[in-house]
Amino acid sequence: QSALSPREAALIARRDAVLGASYRLQYRQPVHFVRGEGMWLYDPDDRPYLDFYNNVPSLGHCNPEVNAAMAEQAGRISANTRYLEPQLVDYAERLVATFPTGIDRVVFTCTGSESNDLALRIARLYSGNEGVIVSDYAYHGTSAAVAAVSPNLGDAVVLSPNVRMVSLPGPAGVPEAQAAAFFEAQVRAAVEDLNRRGIGVAALLIDSIFSSDGVCVDPPGFIAGGVAAVREAGGLLIADEVQPGFGRTGSHMWGFERHKVVPDLVTLGKPMGNGFPIGAVVGQREPLDRFGNTARYSNTLLSNTVGIATANAVLTILQRDRIQQNALAMGQRLRAGLEKIAQQQPGIRAIRNAGLFFGVDMGGEDMAPHTQRAFALDVVNTLRDDGVLVSTTGENEDALKVRPPLICEAEHVDLFLAAVERALAKVADARNQGLK
Ligand code: PMP
Repeated sequence: QSALSPREAALIARRDAVLGASYRLQYRQPVHFVRGEGMWLYDPDDRPYLDFYNNVPSLGHCNPEVNAAMAEQAGRISANTRYLEPQLVDYAERLVATFPTGIDRVVFTCTGSESNDLALRIARLYSGNEGVIVSDYAYHGTSAAVAAVSPNLGDAVVLSPNVRMVSLPGPAGVPEAQAAAFFEAQVRAAVEDLNRRGIGVAALLIDSIFSSDGVCVDPPGFIAGGVAAVREAGGLLIADEVQPGFGRTGSHMWGFERHKVVPDLVTLGKPMGNGFPIGAVVGQREPLDRFGNTARYSNTLLSNTVGIATANAVLTILQRDRIQQNALAMGQRLRAGLEKIAQQQPGIRAIRNAGLFFGVDMGGEDMAPHTQRAFALDVVNTLRDDGVLVSTTGENEDALKVRPPLICEAEHVDLFLAAVERALAKVADARNQGLK
């Protein structure tokens, strides 16, 4: 591992002097990138890094076709939605066509946080209730309202008194056969408590692959009873598709489809513009109409024509190039490769995935949680030194979070697997040295 160069050290000092303290650099030795292309990011010395972390550029970094659509529109007109403009309607029609029957209305936003913020407003207005149920380590975004329902932020925020957390079967160690009953019981208890206190339930707000809870994807369908419990009490299901949406789960375009539920509201963001800030709330007509007819919602930059042209190009490529099917195939290849490594080398405790979103528990069963966490961090940094980007997730931050752009090919998966083998061996070696 080389030392930080004077160029990077100077840049870090300048960042620290001018940026708000909330900025954090990733890795023990931060990386400096100057360009991206497809699956790769390049540092100033033109060293390539294989990106198995960034899920926003689903169609690859600097996708030329997406960029051409963006530039072309920026050169023609960038206007808001109070003028007639066919592309907005074209895109909205194409987007809702990817959803199950009944979900046929869309309101655009600029980010995932705004989408969740708006969805909460809609659910509260529609249900007449205030309570929100989320998973134990959920993250739903940055605005005051969504941060207040994001326990993942820990001590950094004061959670709303109207929020209730529910545990997930996987992290609670509940066997798959009892997962659905366990989840439903958790939700029913939360609903009862909200009702008892006169708060009522406005929504169950969930990311269906529970990415910040450690990627808790299985068994498919386990959330259905909990959803029914919320609906019986007059609340809505908001599916936060910021992470699983747009084909990442491989088996479906939308993560909630794995669970065979139809949400009232669906929130979108991240990969929708492949890096251009655009998001949406897609939903059933009644709550969206009730909200639109009662409250005011306008957002200066929502569905500006450049964002819409970009999102239109993204959806075209997703469908034309069968990106979701690729995510399924590459997810299977990656899973099989990780399972093989887990049999041959110590260091992998469990592998969870839906398509190209993986949580891979690190360390040995016999290790204490803080050692498992340190092990995961060592692997992430060793991979970074080897030119491969991933991060961690879960309550204990001991699972590798692996979510490459969806255009990834077999050769990238194989490069990644070889790097994981090397990293596990290196980290295990270093630990053995340390223990001697
Ligand atoms: N929901 C989930 C599940 C997320 O992971 C995130 C971002 N990490 C958001 C919402 C917020 O999206 P944004 O940062 O675009 O506002």
